[in-house]
Amino acid sequence: MDTLKFAVLPGDGIGPEVMAVALNVLRRAAEAEGITLEHSEADAGGIAIDRHGAALPDETLRLCGESEAILFGSIGGPKWENLPPKDQPERAALLPLRKHFSLFANIRPGLLYPELVNASPLKAERIPDGIDIVCIRELTGGLYFGQPKETRELPDGDIEAVDTMVYRKSEIERIAAVAVSTARARGKRVCSVDKANVLENSVLWRRTVTEYVAANAPEIELSHMYVDNAAMQLARDPNQFDVILTENMFGDILSDEMAVICGSLGMLSSASLGTVNNRHGHRFGLYEPAGGTAPDIAGKNLANPCAQVLSAAMMLRFSFGLDALADRIESAVRRAVTSGVRTADISFGGKNVGTAEMGEAIIRNL
Ligand code: NAD
Repeated sequence: MDTLKFAVLPGDGIGPEVMAVALNVLRRAAEAEGITLEHSEADAGGIAIDRHGAALPDETLRLCGESEAILFGSIGGPKWENLPPKDQPERAALLPLRKHFSLFANIRPGLLYPELVNASPLKAERIPDGIDIVCIRELTGGLYFGQPKETRELPDGDIEAVDTMVYRKSEIERIAAVAVSTARARGKRVCSVDKANVLENSVLWRRTVTEYVAANAPEIELSHMYVDNAAMQLARDPNQFDVILTENMFGDILSDEMAVICGSLGMLSSASLGTVNNRHGHRFGLYEPAGGTAPDIAGKNLANPCAQVLSAAMMLRFSFGLDALADRIESAVRRAVTSGVRTADISFGGKNVGTAEMGEAIIRNL
C-alpha cells in the first residue's frame, strides 16, 4: 500500500491544534515506510456553521465519501450552544455522519499507563498496573434512533415524550462480531452488558450474543452483566474486564465512565467503524479523540495531542490494515509520556510541555 487517502475534519476549539500534531506524527511515521498521505481538509461543526451556514456542508460530506477514512477533531463550543438543539454542531454534524456512513461500531480503548495511575480518580492500589480495557458500543441503533421519537400532547391536556428502543438480531450479531475480533487480539474475554431483567431489547441482545459466540467463537470466554452492576464494577475493579460489549445508550454512559477512571480525556482515542469496506479491503471508519473541544484550554497551547495521535494510529490499524505502523505510533506515545514528557492534564507537578512540544517528543520516539 503506498497512498492513504483520508479526509481531515479538524473541527473547533482544540481540534485544529491537536490535529496539526497528529498529521505531523502520521507524516513522519509514514515517510519512514515509503507511504504517502493524501489528505484533504474540510470544515465540520461550529466552524462550518460560521463559514457555510451548516454544521455538515455538502462539500464536507462529498470529501468524506471520496475518502477511505475520516480523521476527526472535536466539534462544538459555547459560541454555538444557544442554537436550537437540532442545529447544534454535534447533533447536526456528528450524528448525520454516523448515520450516513453507517458507523455502527464504536471502539474505545480505556488505557492508562502504569506510570500515570496518579491521574486516575481511583486509588492507585486498585490499579497498580494501570488500566487496559476496551468498550465496544453499538452506535446506530437503540434508543437514540428508534422511531417514534416525539413529544405529544394528550387529549387530557398532559404532555408525553416517547423514545423508542429498537434492535434487530442482525444489528446485534454484527456488533458482537466486532467485540469477538477485538477480544481475539487481546485477552479473549467479552463481557456483554445489558438490562435483561427489565428490557425486551436486552433479552434479545443477551440471547443473540450468546448464540453468536457459541457458534462463531467458542474460544472466547463470554459473560453477561447488568448495566447498573457494570457501572459499579468499572469503578471498583476496571481490569476485571477485557472487552465490554454493549448497546448505544449504555455504551455512551459506560465509555464516559471509563474515560474518567483512565485519568485524562487527552489520552483517549476512539474509532467508529462502518459497514462498508474501502478499496484496501478494510472498513471505512471515523477516528476521533474521546474528549470534546476543551474550550477552557483552546488556543493556549495546553491541549494534550495524544488522543488525536492515537486516533490516527487506530485509523492506520482499522481502515488501512497497517498494524505495525499503528503499533509504532502507539509505542512512541507511550515512550514519550512515560519518559516524563507531560502536558498539564497528565502531569503531577514539574515542568509541563505544550501541545507542539508533546508532538515533537512523540516524533523523537518513533
Ligand atoms: P471536553 O471533553 O471538551 O472537556 C472536558 C475537560 O477535559 C475539560 O477540562 C478539558 O480541558 C479537558 N480535556 C479534553 N480534551 C483534552 C485534551 N486533549 N487535553 C487536555 N485536556 C483535555 O468536554 P466539555 O467541556 O463537556 O465539552 C466542550 C465542547 O465539546 C462542547 O461544545 C461539547 O458539545 C463538545 N464535545 C464534542 C465532542 C465531539 O466532537 N465528539 C465530544 C464531547 C464534547
